[in-house]
Amino acid sequence: MTVTLDAPCTPTLPAAPTGSPAAPVDRAVAPLLPVVGGDVAVPLVDGDTVRYANLDYAASSPALEAVAAHLTQALPYYSSVHRGAGFTSQVSTQLYESARRTVADFLGARADDVVVFTRNTTDALNLLANALPGHPGAGDVIFLDSEHHANLLPWQGRAHRCVPVSHTLAGTVERLADALRERPAALVAVTGSSNVTGEILPIARIAAIAHAHGARIVVDAAQLAPHRRIDMTALDVDYVAFSGHKIYAPFGAGALVGRRDWLDEATPYLAGGGAVREVGTERTEWAAAPQRHEGGTPNVLGAATLAAACRAIAALPAGALEAHEGQLRERLVTGLGRLPGVRLLQIWPDSTERIGVVTFVVTGHDSGRVAAYLSAEHGIGVRDGRFCAHPLLTRLGYGDGAIRASLGVGSSSDDVDRLVAAIEQLQVDGEGWDYALDHGRWAPTPDPRPAAPWLAEATGPADATDAAAGASPCGD
Ligand code: PMP
Repeated sequence: MTVTLDAPCTPTLPAAPTGSPAAPVDRAVAPLLPVVGGDVAVPLVDGDTVRYANLDYAASSPALEAVAAHLTQALPYYSSVHRGAGFTSQVSTQLYESARRTVADFLGARADDVVVFTRNTTDALNLLANALPGHPGAGDVIFLDSEHHANLLPWQGRAHRCVPVSHTLAGTVERLADALRERPAALVAVTGSSNVTGEILPIARIAAIAHAHGARIVVDAAQLAPHRRIDMTALDVDYVAFSGHKIYAPFGAGALVGRRDWLDEATPYLAGGGAVREVGTERTEWAAAPQRHEGGTPNVLGAATLAAACRAIAALPAGALEAHEGQLRERLVTGLGRLPGVRLLQIWPDSTERIGVVTFVVTGHDSGRVAAYLSAEHGIGVRDGRFCAHPLLTRLGYGDGAIRASLGVGSSSDDVDRLVAAIEQLQVDGEGWDYALDHGRWAPTPDPRPAAPWLAEATGPADATDAAAGASPCGD
């Protein structure tokens, strides 16, 4: 059930400031931490080669060098977890279980919280949806219509209310409070920061409101965790879900962290070996969480690298992440703001904090085609589309999609400056190549860029249907 509490609001979409005075953005900003592939060269359609400007951290971030080094160190010891008496099995088990402690510490979890390793945030939120108390009167799930699909679809299969965002962030929080006042809920599911605009939500305040009305809160921290310190205890947050591949550990692990009781009582998420205490042919005694939900052989290297990334981020001096990303974001927003016809997406005019995610459209230019142009002619990687947030893009009036540039610890002022210069060149000179739709995606035509030789060796000759099969059906 979807309940609309109020008429949908008209979004506030400020034009990017034009002709604004130069901000202190002329000083070079270097990467904060070394990442694998930070200097990888990519081909352009004109035959040239340039350093890849990765402005797509919000989709998947590169591995930190420290994370890759940890992986290399751990690989020779890779073995079965919880299942072997051999030395390397014991090393692997220790790696896996200590990764839980590292992740719990990284998120400021309470001593009795549980860390369940999952594949990613989507998996973690589906696990929590599976663990919602089902008894009569348990209450439903409340979420905003600005959420990523991962924090929307799992709840659609349960009793739920979708609260439309208001014109302001303060008004949006008030709408959540109104929904809770109207009827108690079991859970408020909210993102830590928008994957479309980077705006950060006031989590502590929403947690206090949820708890005052007897509900729990889960934070979708897929975007927030790589960019801001999260302290579950201080924020009084019940559950956090996040993904390794967005926090510099792209090896297939994520986590759900939080209160034990629902997880201990829930039907096992993934029934299988490792999730049980005793199995009979008719009756099974299940293990408690976290093992209860981790049936099958665990992803020890995913968990270990996720923990290594958490350690590396936690070891940064206080404020370093915010300062690095803040400078680059300001530079990007100021640079784009000087270009006529560039509009930045924003949900709330009163939001004050943002991570390094900037989404925009260029008037008169199809966003997918701009993204193809940036890659083909400038070696810049951005994301285009609706970012798996269809209701939000529709609400903002950009159902046709937009362009997202996102930053991380490996980003530099050179990446940002190249993007701004490329958009300016597009506006002044136009495209320098032809583009056509190929299986629904814009692509240069012809596309003479050679594939990396190692790729052809590994995969055989490229087949156009590979790309088509890999395209997201939701046009994300
Ligand atoms: N929530 C947000 C805010 C996201 O940005 C994403 C990924 N784009 C997800 C959830 C889903 O993360 P994953 O694909 O790692 O499950």
